Amino acid sequence: MNTICYIVAMRAEATPFIREFGLKLNENFFAPLPCQLYEGEVNGTRLCVVLNGAQHNSDLVGCEAATLATSQAIQHLRPDLVINSGTCGAFESKGADIARVYIGNGVMFHDRRVPGDDAWTTQSIGNYPVWKGSHELALQLGLPEGKVTTGSSLDMQPCDLEVIQQHGGELKDMEGAAIAFVCSLYGVPVLFVKSVTDLVDHSADTFEVFSRNLAAAGESLKQINKQIISLLTRQNPATNNPE
Ligand code: SAH
Repeated sequence: MNTICYIVAMRAEATPFIREFGLKLNENFFAPLPCQLYEGEVNGTRLCVVLNGAQHNSDLVGCEAATLATSQAIQHLRPDLVINSGTCGAFESKGADIARVYIGNGVMFHDRRVPGDDAWTTQSIGNYPVWKGSHELALQLGLPEGKVTTGSSLDMQPCDLEVIQQHGGELKDMEGAAIAFVCSLYGVPVLFVKSVTDLVDHSADTFEVFSRNLAAAGESLKQINKQIISLLTRQNPATNNPE
């Protein structure tokens, strides 16, 4: 692979990883947009991390910023593989645990309720493809897999849960499907690496639990991403073929 590009929503999710690989900020690369580029080289592969950026002193989480960052990243950096690394909520009833890292085996939206025929439902839910090598990678690293499910809110309303259950969603985030949408348009494969910050089927306040577990989730993301980068940049055609 020539170029691998991470798309990350929050600084706290990316910082341990940026430090570990000694990536450098390329200031104003996306100016005047808020996205930020960190880059470096690992085993001859260009490694980029694109952050959504910040506004009003807070990270730009959510689909709009993720769509913008992904589209800019693909146009300007031409990655062979996009990796969305970040945190998510998950279901304790399905065996999830805080700071456990999952590989996405599918990706959908859960809060786009558009009445109409099957075509509207298909478009609203999304169900975009993930990188074909995702499953093999999960096996190699001994990681569990789950379907990423994306919406614009941190909380989960009963109508969201209904859609999530109906379509088999497991890893609840705010960017994944938007990133996969853009990747599908450009034909660039996308891999999801998600660490659990909160259990969505628990009654506890999501924001409080999320904030408490963010650092631990960021740390486990770093550990797993180190292994992923090492596998993907190894000179082995079986593991580094982006197709
Ligand atoms: N005010 C918080 C906002 C975090 S939003 C803060 O700045 O600390 C949550 C982020 O983590 C999003 O980028 C989303 O992708 C992910 N996330 C973690 N748990 C989530 C959940 N239960 N539902 C949706 N997104 C979640």
